[in-house]
Formats: sequence, C-alpha cells, structure tokens
Amino acid sequence: MIRADKALRKAKVKAKPKRPSLPSLIAKADKITSEYIRRKWADASGNVVCISCAKVLHWKDAHCAHFIERAAKATRWMEENLRPACPSCNVYRKEFHSREYTLAMIDCYGREGVEELKSEARQVLSASQVRMLAEEAIVEFGLRLKDME
Ligand SMILES: [Zn+2]
Repeated sequence: MIRADKALRKAKVKAKPKRPSLPSLIAKADKITSEYIRRKWADASGNVVCISCAKVLHWKDAHCAHFIERAAKATRWMEENLRPACPSCNVYRKEFHSREYTLAMIDCYGREGVEELKSEARQVLSASQVRMLAEEAIVEFGLRLKDME
C-alpha cells in the first residue's frame, strides 16, 4: 500500500503542468486571436473584405493585419487594432496598406480613437504584463471562437 501511494504521488508530481514559456504563450495568443478576428469579420459564406484593397477572400486565406505593428505588445491582441487583410496588402504593399488601413481606422474610430490606440501602443510592458495579456487573449478569444461553432 505504501508503495502504491508513493508511486501515485510521484505520478502527480510528474503530471504537474509546466508553465508555458512566454514565446510559446505569445504564439498561441497570436494564433487564436488571428482566427477569431478573421472569423468575426467573415460573412455567412466565410468571406472577409481586405481592410486595404477591399478584395473579397475566404477568411482562411486572409491575414489578421495589425494596424499598429505586432512589436507593440500592449495592442498586439487588441480587437480594435486588428482587421482581416489580403496577404499581398499585408506582406508586399506596405505603403499602400498602411495608408488605406489608417483611413479605414479613422473612419471607424475617428482621429481621437486612433490617437488613443497609438498612445496605448507606446506603453512599455513587463514580461509578466505581456504574459497576462497573452493569457487573456487565449481565454477570451478562445471562448468567442467556441461560441461561433
Ligand atoms: Zn488587400
């Protein structure tokens, strides 16, 4: 009996989940957030409109484009900062994309809203704050994706 108990205890210690590394957490948050944003903006047939060139494409072929670049962690998983875009705008037509995206953001949130987002993005976050934001995005957008099914 004592032996079995010991074995069980050992197994429990082994099964204890390891805290995921920050990079793996960020990657997971990016993946879930991206899927949520693209599906949120999709119509009944699963199509989205590129924020910059208005091309219609399936959400699975679209990118989740950041208005303020991903390097700014405070806005990296912020819904307001994200829209579907076609891969060519998001990857290759940088100047055009940034100009058109800015106009669309001003139409949507006004100049003040865009400035607010920009000042939000300038916040310098600690690693534990980034971890918290990533975890929040995983939980929140994960739940909303479940609701879509
Ligand atoms: Zn486009």
